Amino acid sequence: MALRNIIGQERALKIFFGTLKRDRVPSAMLLSGDMGVGKRLAALNYAKAVNCLDPVDSDCCDTCASCRKIDAEMHPDITVLIPDGDGIKIDMIRKIEEVLFLKAFEGRRKVVIIDDAEAMNINAANAFLKTLEEPPSDSLILLISSNPDSLPDTIRSRCTNIRFYPLPLEGMRKVISPEIREEDMDFVLRLSMGRPGLALAGDFMGEREWFMKLLANMRQGESKDIWADKNAMKAWLDLAFVLLRDMAVFKITGDESDLLYGRGEHKMYGNANLRPLFDAYQGLLKIRGLLDFNLNKSISWNYVSAMMQSLRTSEK
Ligand SMILES: [Zn+2]
Repeated sequence: MALRNIIGQERALKIFFGTLKRDRVPSAMLLSGDMGVGKRLAALNYAKAVNCLDPVDSDCCDTCASCRKIDAEMHPDITVLIPDGDGIKIDMIRKIEEVLFLKAFEGRRKVVIIDDAEAMNINAANAFLKTLEEPPSDSLILLISSNPDSLPDTIRSRCTNIRFYPLPLEGMRKVISPEIREEDMDFVLRLSMGRPGLALAGDFMGEREWFMKLLANMRQGESKDIWADKNAMKAWLDLAFVLLRDMAVFKITGDESDLLYGRGEHKMYGNANLRPLFDAYQGLLKIRGLLDFNLNKSISWNYVSAMMQSLRTSEK
């Protein structure tokens, strides 16, 4: 693909193409926006356009040796840093600096893409700031962040900021329709909320079944917790929030068209009243927040069961 094929990010594309057409590619850019809206894809295709050997209307040709190498992650001048769970440490930044200060091998510009840039720890950020202040002339640094507010101001202010937005429904449909079955489409569209990356990476249908199965066990009074681990608990609670949200929306509007689940799940506990719904929501939120402090799994199960059960008693 090429930069122009990025769907639903017209504003970002306008800025990208502006820099390409005027040959004014900045030394650093910050691509920010929700997770899964296409920031990394855009960054890679911008890198392709910048280094393309045979550009078409300032965009990449997608067929030359440079474009193909970038797509195959084999271009010697393009470095992509995706942090693992431990964040971005100073030695990673040092490696990036080494790359940046070498002369470009093949491309016109060396490009460093740092995903989840906010994962830089303070030492890494300080070291990185020096590079940003005096970047080598033939370098391009693309920072990607779904949480740009947690980047230091000093870093943000040195980047050209480009904001990405959740995709409108039609754009979403276009991007995900080759991968998502038509009968699942409405549900996936609603739950992924304009973020094609999530729609394509996540198994929304499978998770929904899993969530409902565990909830059914809970309703039948299963007393032993059946979450596999803490991550399973987190994932399950996130889906429970969606259900509680649906129940509240239905209670208020009586309209089923705005529900995220939408196959009768919101009626599982009858027509629950708002007060117990909010209480349950708060209670689950508290549990969700405490999970990082090694909360006991089976105590949590009983607590969550009781919370969900309290919804039933409010049936009319
Ligand atoms: Zn090309």
